[in-house]
Amino acid sequence: MARGYMGKMLWVDLSGGKLKDEKLDEKLARRYIGGYGIGARVLFDRMKAGADPLGPENILGFTTGPLTGTPALSGTRYTVVGKSPLTGGWGDANSGGWFGAFLKFSGYDAVFFKGIAEKPVYLFIDNGRAELKDASRLWGEDTYATEDMIKAEHGKDTVIACIGPGGEKMSRIAAIVHLKGSVAARSGLGTVMGSKRLKAVAVKGNMKVPVADEKGLKETRARYLATMGGHVDILRKYGTTFTTVPSIESGDSPVKNWDGVAVKDFPDASPIGAEAVAERSQKRIACYQCPVGCEAIMKAGNGEYKWEAGSYRPEYETIVMLGSNCLNNNIESIIKANDVCNRLGIDTISAGAVIAFAMECYEKGIITRKDTGGIELTWGNHKAVVALTEQIGRREGIGDILADGVKIAAQKIGKGAEECAMHVGGQEVPAHNPIATPALTATYLTNATPARHTQGSEEHHNPGLLPEFNQSLYSGRGEAHARGSNFQHALMCSGYCLFVNSAFPTADVIADFIRPVTGWDVTTDDLVETGERIENMRQAFNLREGIKISQFKLAGRLLGKPPQQAGPTAGVTVDEATLVKDYLKAMGWDEKTGKPSRKRMEELGLGDVAKELKL
Ligand code: SF4
Repeated sequence: MARGYMGKMLWVDLSGGKLKDEKLDEKLARRYIGGYGIGARVLFDRMKAGADPLGPENILGFTTGPLTGTPALSGTRYTVVGKSPLTGGWGDANSGGWFGAFLKFSGYDAVFFKGIAEKPVYLFIDNGRAELKDASRLWGEDTYATEDMIKAEHGKDTVIACIGPGGEKMSRIAAIVHLKGSVAARSGLGTVMGSKRLKAVAVKGNMKVPVADEKGLKETRARYLATMGGHVDILRKYGTTFTTVPSIESGDSPVKNWDGVAVKDFPDASPIGAEAVAERSQKRIACYQCPVGCEAIMKAGNGEYKWEAGSYRPEYETIVMLGSNCLNNNIESIIKANDVCNRLGIDTISAGAVIAFAMECYEKGIITRKDTGGIELTWGNHKAVVALTEQIGRREGIGDILADGVKIAAQKIGKGAEECAMHVGGQEVPAHNPIATPALTATYLTNATPARHTQGSEEHHNPGLLPEFNQSLYSGRGEAHARGSNFQHALMCSGYCLFVNSAFPTADVIADFIRPVTGWDVTTDDLVETGERIENMRQAFNLREGIKISQFKLAGRLLGKPPQQAGPTAGVTVDEATLVKDYLKAMGWDEKTGKPSRKRMEELGLGDVAKELKL
């Protein structure tokens, strides 16, 4: 087995309570690296098409990459994979923190769960010894209490990823939380965990990740540390909140459920800006081995909203989804709602989207005060934002309808509510507007997990990575988009952090770390091809489920159809058809349906997959 891997996967059959070790095949690792790459191949091979995302046949995986748990700068990430209950297709979510590193220190590269446990359980792994433990006493507890209770039993050096009441009650926007705020949020995979009655995965260990060239890795680390630049200082000070005010002012952030204009409907973003958050922050924290440390914990909230000291700082996405998107400029209500989502295990992007959806339905008379149980769901009502996050996480009141995300909520409510539901293929749109950031348009509309902002685009600024293209045109960006996205898939699957990558002038940083860690002679071009294989594999998973790219649509208000009348993006209409068509062509996929071509699949070594799909 190549270095960089522990060489082992754990399979857990929750229905039968059986655990089995399996050797990690080096060929699988070399071709798919790790993370959702290995996850996509494993789930395609071992899961039947048509499985109920909340049934026993869905497989839920926790996967790492070769850089996870190594001294490579920011080898922190782990990925959760499974069939998404939001989209009915491929699902993945990832998180930094310490869980991925400690999963490897416990002896495993990945853990896969199938079946449904008879009663609540959690998996505990201690230095290669894995067992299922009774979680009856943890069921009903929030994620903070769950972490404390498991640590009290197994020691402070235990690292835990768990669900809260949101996942237990199978809210389809449920997330998986560790460190009380490091969250694998998207695709609704906390819901899958809840459907399996799996409360937590707890890992501890002190096994070392084997490295091929210790000296070379040390030198590479020192070399890159010496060149670290970019926006590191600002990330250290403010985290992603540095971008809140400029993004709102540029028209990139959602305002009034994507139907508003910043200068008119949300004229002053500063009350929810970086300084407002920094004043309330207690100290900076970092994921495993990260020299940046873009995270922070908050001081206690002692005003109108109360939260304990140590609550995680909300990210940019959280702030604007629960802020400008709901016309809410009360920062303490956002910090509180973030804390509630983290405790109950809810994706803050989807929570903000579904609250703004409900506010628009309320404004239009589609839902009334009778439906909300007396809550005035008026725009900007910060008390309503906090109250709804609680209700969604606990499936109480109108939260029971909103807990499954905007698509299902709109279907349940009817009366034209679909017009207010901002999603692609069932997943809520994150906080970047295609009108202001065209680079993400094709990502939202073509990615195997649609409406994702971290799955790559032509927005990489590393010199030499992308071919030249004209940034002022919608046409001619396909090659750059394909290469940028494919590179990013490889980056994510290696266990590396996206933010740290942007701190270096060259994209070669990933290959430069993978070589000494694994002993493989890989280049950035090799990684781009591996990323392409990974994305084809994820699309194959969707195709087998009957999901085609051509089904994915963005609402007119996210494309400037009709164009906005005022503000920084006034008059702009996105030519999404050209952006998507050029990308599909660059990937060698059918320009109408988005189906991968048999030829390219075979070139990527996916001939067996093409055959199964009858491409
Ligand atoms: S840059 Fe931030 S998110 Fe990325 S590894 Fe470092 S602390 Fe974690």
